[in-house]
Amino acid sequence: MNYQALKSMIENLIKTYKCPECKSSVTEENIDIVWAAWANVNIDVECPKCKKHSMIKSQIIQMNINSIEGLRNSIQNIKNLKSSIKHGINDSEITNLSKDLKSEHINVSDLFEK
Ligand SMILES: [Zn+2]
Repeated sequence: MNYQALKSMIENLIKTYKCPECKSSVTEENIDIVWAAWANVNIDVECPKCKKHSMIKSQIIQMNINSIEGLRNSIQNIKNLKSSIKHGINDSEITNLSKDLKSEHINVSDLFEK
């Protein structure tokens, strides 16, 4: 469970949630995490006005579509580097390679399901 992703998901929920009965908005106090395992989380929301409960099932997904492509590029770069070593390599090529290897980062997106 990624704490940051969960936190931003709950913040987002507070901002966007409207009670289906009375359209009232909720605060952090009305939100209760009932169950959480791996990337799945069940959240109970109680309306502060009409006390209606809503169960929200959510998945916190961490995915980086670019990472596979990035990894391929990195492997290709290493192959290129190996062949470059045979022919001689300059400093800028090494710098470019380390930049490529550091360019991976994790994108977090939240999906809501009612
Ligand atoms: Zn309500």
